[in-house]
Amino acid sequence: MPNKNHSGAAHSAQTGRFPRPCPECGKEELYPAAIAYDAEARHDGRRYAFHIPALQVNQCRACGEVLFSNATGDQISQALREHVGLLAPQHH
Ligand SMILES: [Zn+2]
Repeated sequence: MPNKNHSGAAHSAQTGRFPRPCPECGKEELYPAAIAYDAEARHDGRRYAFHIPALQVNQCRACGEVLFSNATGDQISQALREHVGLLAPQHH
């Protein structure tokens, strides 16, 4: 298909309508899924590694491609904040 994705957010990228077409294999087999995920993120110049037992993603049932949604990014940021918060509680 010549219809390439632009780098902007797609208009149809909203939760609630599944399955969606998979950008990898093109089949309409993209469903919400929760996966165990070992995340790594930088914060304050340090690198943190933490485990998320049930990360909300979209996964293709045909080819197995895992796609992060906006909710996935939010969940990772929140998990990072909690992880950092546990390591170094805020002084106040
Ligand atoms: Zn696929």
